[in-house]
Amino acid sequence: MATYQVTLIAGDGIGPEVTEATRRVLDATGVGFEWDEQDAGLMALDKHGDVLPEATLASVRRNGIGLKGPITTPIGSGFRSVNVGLRQALELYANLRPGRTMQGVQSTFDDIDLVIVRENLEDIYAGVEFDTGTPEAAEVIAAINARSKRPIAGNAAISIKMITPEGSRRIVQFAFEYARQNKRKKVTAVHKANIMKFSDGLFLHVAQEVAKDYPDIEFNDRIVDNMCMQLMQKPSEYDVLVMPNLYGDIVSDLVAGMVGGLGVAPGGNIGKDASVFEPIHGSAPTHAGKNEANPTAMILSGALMLRHLGERDAGEAVEHAVAAIIADGTQVTYDLRADRDPSKAATTSGMADAIIATLRA
Ligand code: NAD
Repeated sequence: MATYQVTLIAGDGIGPEVTEATRRVLDATGVGFEWDEQDAGLMALDKHGDVLPEATLASVRRNGIGLKGPITTPIGSGFRSVNVGLRQALELYANLRPGRTMQGVQSTFDDIDLVIVRENLEDIYAGVEFDTGTPEAAEVIAAINARSKRPIAGNAAISIKMITPEGSRRIVQFAFEYARQNKRKKVTAVHKANIMKFSDGLFLHVAQEVAKDYPDIEFNDRIVDNMCMQLMQKPSEYDVLVMPNLYGDIVSDLVAGMVGGLGVAPGGNIGKDASVFEPIHGSAPTHAGKNEANPTAMILSGALMLRHLGERDAGEAVEHAVAAIIADGTQVTYDLRADRDPSKAATTSGMADAIIATLRA
């Protein structure tokens, strides 16, 4: 059996605890792993003077695959975001966020099975911004005002929304390929092309073109505000949703809420040469070091990683084991209990032990 070299980034806050739980579960699948442990976040800042050391990036580049715990973003300017830094440095253009209800997780909905594919590098999140009152903003505003019929106020702060044909094509292709490989039936492109006729219009146009190459998969599109309403009213009509960065950020949190919250929501950031899997939640500092945080989102991110590596059976086995433990409800962390009573709840490591026992049964 193959052995995979994987960069393991424990992260901050509850990161080390949920990462260790996940590493043990993945090791118990029988798939061979060599974990290349690397630092990022506050610990990296203390040890290396940088929240995202070059050695960490080099490790993910070398291994092509990483599993990452959440990172605390230090408050104050001057710190680059580790998550944005990783995505940009490694061109992790696709953010994959499945949202599925599980028996035993309290949620408003009970039959959700959606996959959000979010473009990760473009759109208004590209980081091209000009602050109010700066000479750079004044130059940009003057250049735009010389060309546009609608003037921009001289003291405006500016954030640039940019969408390219190449960026749109690869994210929509990713969504269709994912749909095909995972036997999903429909892809919906989400946009606001009725208002942003050029940027979102381009995204929609490219999506319609790409869809022609996948006649086996149904395609439609929805305007993002209508999409949010429809997700509340008839989520079963949707399957894989693909969208630009900002809408993807918001809609994926909406879907995470629909399936029971951050503790159970996994994710992956995927590029051509490297991919990094991580839970959607943050470092939850109030729970750090107490062995009480829910490891589910991180473990399910590990299952996504297994599937991405082609280890579909092992990925499914982990998902089934997690689902069985949550459905049983006796060996789960406090947040998965109806009474939220920590004295009756399993610890982070205890829940991982129960998942491992189920995997081995
Ligand atoms: P958070 O996700 O850490 O916490 C939000 C709420 O959910 C809190 O009440 C927290 O206790 C709870 N929670 C989250 N994960 C949990 C788990 N596994 N088990 C039990 N409860 C859990 O979000 P936040 O408080 O806004 O952010 C805290 C820090 O994390 C910030 O520094 C933020 O920048 C960072 N952050 C990092 C990432 C990442 O690395 N991908 C993502 C989001 C936030």
